[in-house]
Amino acid sequence: MDAATIKARLQAPFAPDELEWRVGATSGDKSKGMALAYVTNRAIQNRLDDVFGPFGWRNEYQQWQGKSQLCGISVYDAEKGEWVTKWDGADNTEFESTKGGLSDAMKRAAYQWGIGRYLYKLDAKWVPIKPVGNKSYTLAGPPPALPAWALPEGYKSQPRQRQEPPKCEECGSHIRPTSKSTVEELIQYGREHYAAQLCVECMKKRLEASKSESA
Ligand SMILES: [Zn+2]
Repeated sequence: MDAATIKARLQAPFAPDELEWRVGATSGDKSKGMALAYVTNRAIQNRLDDVFGPFGWRNEYQQWQGKSQLCGISVYDAEKGEWVTKWDGADNTEFESTKGGLSDAMKRAAYQWGIGRYLYKLDAKWVPIKPVGNKSYTLAGPPPALPAWALPEGYKSQPRQRQEPPKCEECGSHIRPTSKSTVEELIQYGREHYAAQLCVECMKKRLEASKSESA
């Protein structure tokens, strides 16, 4: 494989399910945030396997000043008979601090090799967000749709996968809309009143149970 082919294969876009989304900047009232796409570490490993083979690459980590992690991804250059390493680092994260730092450092090192670099070119989209823990936020709805250039070759022509209707966390059956409520409303009602995503039947049962308890 020549360098241009390797570069193109490393930089090729990923399928939407190989991405994870985080919230960057947030609005003053914390209702909206900037959606940022990252390649999952599993997808990075798969990409390196695909391009270089499982024995053709390796990674290593170093701690940096106790609060950051560095990741080096090395690739074997068969022509020169030597390993070539690109390093980058990331700060430890708020949750699972070291693990988060390691994972982010690998993403950065992957960008050094061109993996996922195209994601920097996506237009920033502001989307509804919801809090996770104290200071963090996550997307409240589905991630933004990707433009055709940011999808794998041939992906565009594929029909959008139909989403399975959401399932009840208690009985496992699909949550169906009623004559009065949409599925989204039922899910929201369940979350607010029972802290769970429930079907109508299970919510009725819980209502009956709470009635007989208080009677
Ligand atoms: Zn149910």
